[in-house]
Amino acid sequence: MATATATPPDVEIKYNKCLIDGNWVDAVDGKTFETPNPATGEVLTRLAEGDAKDIDKAVSAARKAFETGKWPKMTATQRGKLMYKLADLIEENREELAKLETLDNGKPYKEALNIDVPLTAACYRYFAGWADKIHGKTIPINGPYFCYTRHEPVGVCGQIIPWNFPMLMQAWKWGPALAAGNTVILKPAEQTPLTALFIGQLALEAGYPAGVANVVPGMGPTAGGALATHMDVDKVAFTGSTEVGHLVMAGAAKSNLKRVSLELGGKSPNIVFADADIDAAVQGAYFALFFNQGQCCCAGSRLFVEESLHDEFTARLVEIAKSRTVGDPFDAATQQGPQVSLEQFDRVMGYIDKGKREGANMLCGGNRVGDRGYFIEPTVFDNVEDEMTIAKEEIFGPVMSVIKFKDIDEVAQRANKTPYGLAAAVWTKDIEKAMRISNSVRAGTVWVNCYDVFDAAAPFGGFKQSGIGRELGEYGLEEYTEVKTVTIKV
Ligand code: ADP
Repeated sequence: MATATATPPDVEIKYNKCLIDGNWVDAVDGKTFETPNPATGEVLTRLAEGDAKDIDKAVSAARKAFETGKWPKMTATQRGKLMYKLADLIEENREELAKLETLDNGKPYKEALNIDVPLTAACYRYFAGWADKIHGKTIPINGPYFCYTRHEPVGVCGQIIPWNFPMLMQAWKWGPALAAGNTVILKPAEQTPLTALFIGQLALEAGYPAGVANVVPGMGPTAGGALATHMDVDKVAFTGSTEVGHLVMAGAAKSNLKRVSLELGGKSPNIVFADADIDAAVQGAYFALFFNQGQCCCAGSRLFVEESLHDEFTARLVEIAKSRTVGDPFDAATQQGPQVSLEQFDRVMGYIDKGKREGANMLCGGNRVGDRGYFIEPTVFDNVEDEMTIAKEEIFGPVMSVIKFKDIDEVAQRANKTPYGLAAAVWTKDIEKAMRISNSVRAGTVWVNCYDVFDAAAPFGGFKQSGIGRELGEYGLEEYTEVKTVTIKV
């Protein structure tokens, strides 16, 4: 049952304005918007609503900071030190950050505290270590020349992030960008702006010069759109839906051809062979879909199960899905909180309805939990066919689709029947099968006998319409550097 607390007594929302040029400021037009608590539907606070004018101010500040003042003069080692300091401050403030994340997003507090915060700090530390290791090569070109490359920052970067892992997505964006010497303007998702603003303050406290790291809360088409189309933004990085990814890229194309990196939707195949370690595969399939209220771009949302294993496997999945504790995200026993917003709640319920109408067999769930907040029962559909809507479109909620398959040739081909290509997984004890699927699946990440294993050092991103470019690791850093070739006659 859902019994949500409105606000835990000991957290105060301190930052609700735009952070531009080191100052907390109202939106130019004085506009504000509400951020609700998804566990109750009640308004948590009102925030400054930035739009094109505020983005303009932030871009000017970021441009100035990129070109003059302390930031471009700072050594790479100093940039790294600032980022280590930011990671330390995040850890020092971990309980407050986790509380804000849970209030704003609805994810269980213990997950915000034990997963989101540590991964966020680890991401900043990883990129802090890179700051003084970003360098080019010397190249033996023909003739009396000395030729070398420099890896320079791209410049002013607009960064638009989603609501499912707010502080972690900020770290994936700020880590590589600031380590490489760029300046940034972050537009957090309108549903979850609170931790981005808090971390903006921590960046000031860490010693980032004014204008280096700006945060402008606001709506997608206005504030986000202004970043994508701004003539003085050198790069836009976006994580969110494929639909908006198209708009961001179009905005970049029709303005100044700014660099674009996109991390978009997915419909990831999770393939279980009959020879898998069944206990591990059941737990893995359950986690792959239900983690974070099912709100993961890489969720294992097409669960392919080999026919001979299907009945036993599905029965066990339904058993654990039914026992999942849904409720107050601040309750330590809670495994699943509310969906992030009423809009998402309605969307997911709409997909459940479509699944039923198109003939999939709903084995459990399907209902709202409680009468306030946006809680949904963990739902499992069986006998899902490739052509059904729930097998094709990203649901982004606690709705699992079990799909049967007969053999490896068939499943290898069906796994790729999607415009997406973000992630995939395979469960088997047979290395041949594991490698066959890992090689044939068109996806940026493949997990073998595991799921959702993330590390700041391992690149993540999509094939096909799941995105462009990679985040994390050395490849993620490359997205924030321009290569300059210098040739000197000797
Ligand atoms: P979702 O549908 O899951 O909310 P979106 O792709 O709409 O995902 O949102 C992800 C981020 O993109 C959010 O920060 C949102 O404000 C932003 N956004 C939405 N529409 C646009 C747009 N037209 N241009 C730029 N950013 C946008």
